Amino acid sequence: MGEQEHTGQPGGRTAQAVLEQPSIDMLQASLRGELLRPGDPGYETARQVFNGMIDRRPRLIVRCTGVADVITAVQFAATHQLLVAVRGGGHNVTGNAVCDDGMVIDLSGMKGMRLDPAARTVRAEAGLTWGELNHDLQVFGLGATGGFISTTGVAGLTLGGGLGWLVRKHGLACDNLLSVDLVTADGRFLTASATEHPDLFWGVRGGGSNFGIVTSFEFRVHPVGMVLAGLLLYPFTKATAALQFWRDYAATAPEELTSGAALLTAPPWPFLPEQLHGTPLVGIPVVYAGPLQAGEQALQPLRAFGPPLADLVEPMPYSAAQTMADALWPRGLQNYWKSNFLPDLSDTAIETILAHFTHVPSPQTIVVIEHVGGGAMNRVEANETAFAHRNWPYNLLVTSLWTEPADAEKNIGWTRQFWEAMQPFVANAVYVNYMGSEGEDRVKAAYGAHYERLVALKKKYDPTNFFRLNQNIKPTP
Ligand SMILES: Cc1cc2nc3c(=O)[nH]c(=O)nc-3n(C[C@H](O)[C@H](O)[C@H](O)COP(=O)(O)OP(=O)(O)OC[C@H]3O[C@@H](n4cnc5c(N)ncnc54)[C@H](O)[C@@H]3O)c2cc1C
Repeated sequence: MGEQEHTGQPGGRTAQAVLEQPSIDMLQASLRGELLRPGDPGYETARQVFNGMIDRRPRLIVRCTGVADVITAVQFAATHQLLVAVRGGGHNVTGNAVCDDGMVIDLSGMKGMRLDPAARTVRAEAGLTWGELNHDLQVFGLGATGGFISTTGVAGLTLGGGLGWLVRKHGLACDNLLSVDLVTADGRFLTASATEHPDLFWGVRGGGSNFGIVTSFEFRVHPVGMVLAGLLLYPFTKATAALQFWRDYAATAPEELTSGAALLTAPPWPFLPEQLHGTPLVGIPVVYAGPLQAGEQALQPLRAFGPPLADLVEPMPYSAAQTMADALWPRGLQNYWKSNFLPDLSDTAIETILAHFTHVPSPQTIVVIEHVGGGAMNRVEANETAFAHRNWPYNLLVTSLWTEPADAEKNIGWTRQFWEAMQPFVANAVYVNYMGSEGEDRVKAAYGAHYERLVALKKKYDPTNFFRLNQNIKPTP
């Protein structure tokens, strides 16, 4: 199936029931949160998501304050046959958190959390970002797995799996999940855990947002005080050697260390000589989550290599490490992404990546290779969760970012050409959270060996495909 653009709304129902004013008034009266409609103050802001390419106009936005509002919204949408979009952090590049014409069930205001420091568990509401959650956990010397940046939503990231700075030491975000509270398509409120609705608990750990609206997540959290973290920068003239060195170094690095490699165009950073601003660079971002002295030792070979143009690695709280790359992915730019897991990182693959980056059309575009293998995520049994891709060592992610909508063609064209050239080197496996709206074959490549089991689960919990604005598992193949 051909690729759809991010801006197109996949699977939208077009013919929808007429909404009479009395029904809308009744909905508003039964909510504790706000109901926004076109023209209302706050509507324009509430319909924006991270990807500036997305410009959709829902009929109704329900800004939920809690579970009761979520149930009310689901029942209203079902009665009136409205297409439903569910919003957590609003970061997904497909823009599935917002829809044209239907109802957005917006959880972004639900930011409650309750930590049990002795048991090392936290219950987090679905509107929290990782930055908000880890900010508060840090006061207790604790941390939740989360992502590589702080602004992504806890909800979408966890439901798709969740790769972050603790992935090698503590696994995926979904591996640290103990239970979820969830509202189903027929408005039921369930708790799913290892002992309650275990089939559903299996599905929400990697099966995305197909089965219901998660209102809160219960996570295991970990002692993570100060970490050794930051970025090492190398000139592009040494790019081949730097990537080869990092590949071999990462393969034997201890699990406390999660690292990546990034190709970027140097922003006007004051710590770089001015003549390097605007030139391509290789960055190696690292987080060592363990005793700092051991971290110094583990990082020594990497810091000695080169030497780097800049070495920004230093001790910092884990919550600060999670924010260190935020500025590179600002909200509101045009975003077009392509991604696949990599079975290895051969010299030829490295050359292909570098050859394409030399003519990258936008200075904001960043190519990332994440080293995710050889750690905690590999120790979870393949069938224990719906997340299907535990054994790939690396993940390649091309995040094309640019400012002007008029530059879409050249940026999308470059991304597709690059991705095509990488096909001999990538696995037929994609991380569901990094995908655009790319068609059914790619959805299958995201759910992998678990696809059929997920279809059966979808039939059981959402037989009408009420929750369809996601990387959709259809109840009838
Ligand atoms: C700049 C950037 C950096 C990223 N970094 C990482 C990273 O480091 N690691 C990583 O693993 N991923 C990363 N991602 C991908 C990220 O995991 C996904 O975009 C994820 O979907 C974001 O979750 P969200 O809640 O913010 O998104 P949303 O857009 O709000 O939601 C994403 C999907 O989940 C559904 N959904 C949202 N909330 C709920 C809920 N409570 N119940 C049921 N369904 C829900 C939505 O309907 C939508 O289909 C990054 C994305 C961006 C744009």
